[in-house]
Amino acid sequence: MKKNNLVDNVKYPIYARPLTLAEKLATTLKLLPIKCNICGSLSVISITTDNFRENCICRRCHSFNRQRQIAFVLCNGITNGSIGTLNEFVNKVGLSVYNTEAGGVLHNYLSQMNDYVCSEYFGDQYKGGEFVDGKMHQDLMFLSFENARFDVVISTDVFEHVADPYIAHKEVHRVLRMGGRHIFTVPFYQTDFLDEKRASLDNEGKLVFHKEPLYHVDPLRSDGVLVFNIFSIEMLGKLAHLGFRTNMYHLYNPINGILGPNGVVFEAIKER
Ligand SMILES: [Zn+2]
Repeated sequence: MKKNNLVDNVKYPIYARPLTLAEKLATTLKLLPIKCNICGSLSVISITTDNFRENCICRRCHSFNRQRQIAFVLCNGITNGSIGTLNEFVNKVGLSVYNTEAGGVLHNYLSQMNDYVCSEYFGDQYKGGEFVDGKMHQDLMFLSFENARFDVVISTDVFEHVADPYIAHKEVHRVLRMGGRHIFTVPFYQTDFLDEKRASLDNEGKLVFHKEPLYHVDPLRSDGVLVFNIFSIEMLGKLAHLGFRTNMYHLYNPINGILGPNGVVFEAIKER
């Protein structure tokens, strides 16, 4: 009987796999030569922990793995592969970009673009668009931007900290032009089908915990930032209802220092 190879094309769920040769080498040597797709340099990444996603730091631009994953989808998705590095992208591509963070390596490069807006969340005492210590405040659930303002929205591990992430996705949909895209990463259960709701706000805005409180490290807050949700395949269906067609990319590209079994980046394109 002929072997059915279709199974090779099933990309979801993404089950755990053993380390690849490049990953074994990188872990042993604690470094790996790469062509960095952010700074564009021939460089070396340093590996200091076995959590590849938040590690593998480029010695030239200090980008880490997850940032290069976002840059990979941004550059290759928009230019159809003709521009491979963020350094080149920001100088050649004229788009309006909104970044939901106002710091870090991606921000440093994107801020070279002519129409670039960035923000942070400083607390509900501020109005959207207000500046706090020179940085714009925005609440992702109530963005102050006009409709169809942006071609691209970028968020990297932000939506898990939003009390109602699908209200925020609806807002992102509103401020994107038709065909515009939201490129993002979130903590994602690669073999689960329903989002894990860890906390929420009740009708009076009071915090309710459904699971043990989980906090992520945040440069702006010493006690960390609360995780409301960890996502799964359910998210793709909900985004479809909002009018997005969402590509889920499972990246592995050691040449660019994109290592590990969980290089998952989403590209939600506003289709209707
Ligand atoms: Zn670099």
